[in-house]
Amino acid sequence: MATRAAKSAITGNAVTEGSVTENSVTTTDIWSADELAEVRERLLAEIDELHTEILRAETELAAGNASEGAGDDPADAGAKTYEREREIALTLNARDVLAQNERAIARIDAGTYGVCESCQRPIGKERLQAFPRATLCVACKQREERR
Ligand SMILES: [Zn+2]
Repeated sequence: MATRAAKSAITGNAVTEGSVTENSVTTTDIWSADELAEVRERLLAEIDELHTEILRAETELAAGNASEGAGDDPADAGAKTYEREREIALTLNARDVLAQNERAIARIDAGTYGVCESCQRPIGKERLQAFPRATLCVACKQREERR
């Protein structure tokens, strides 16, 4: 046993290999209060925009409902249905993003922002500054997408 330990010490890298990965904590993964406040600002601003967007889409949908069937020819009706479905999809997407933003803010407030929900490792500041809503690190995200 002793000789084996000595041997791995001599070969060097073997011992530390595996503990140093792209995911290991570095200073760039530590968020300052200012940086967190900035991300929070961005998320809040986006929530505002999304609220406006959802409201606009819903108003449009309601208006579409009111004028429905008022002597439309079939092609017109088809285009309207398409427009409506697109509007509904956009609204659903906006609501989804809104919920994600709210979750990210809750995580900032809880002090768990930037931790991968799957493997509990730091997501990485660079990734979060590009995608502030990210809840998974790149590795976990890729694994999920492959499923
Ligand atoms: Zn992960």
